[in-house]
Amino acid sequence: MSKTMRQKTRGRRRSKNSQANPSISAEDYLERMAELIEAKGFARAVDLAAALDISQPSVTAMAQRLAREGYVVYEKYRRLQLTESGQDLAAKIRRRHATLQCFLSLLGVDQQTQEDDIEGWEHCLSADTLERLGRLTDFIRARPALLAELQANMTQPAVPPATTTS
Ligand code: MN
Repeated sequence: MSKTMRQKTRGRRRSKNSQANPSISAEDYLERMAELIEAKGFARAVDLAAALDISQPSVTAMAQRLAREGYVVYEKYRRLQLTESGQDLAAKIRRRHATLQCFLSLLGVDQQTQEDDIEGWEHCLSADTLERLGRLTDFIRARPALLAELQANMTQPAVPPATTTS
């Protein structure tokens, strides 16, 4: 993956107030494309533009870039397709999203907040941090007593920060 693809972008919901978002990331693009293909069997530029909240010319420009990078098959007037490496990368992006969902679910974060947070967060996490969050999630889920204790704690009012006395 090229370095620019890993650059942080503003989340898609956060971009709603602005006009077409020029910094919409290639990762978001591949992620939405894979979702559309899964849901409908194909990805059209018009649907992708709606899903990403960007203009169709922006969708086309990104498709051309991702075609040059070997992730997308782009032909004018045709439905967009993912190459094999595009499919692999999209699957990786979606697994990462799912890992973060599992982690935030453990903490009791509601669905909508999860979606908003993950869209902003997922593209700037290192592979190492992601891996550790995944392991922490698995660790806690494998321990029902610990999970119950954690979730009971999460429903308590926030604890004020400890004050130090000297
Ligand atoms: Mn995502």
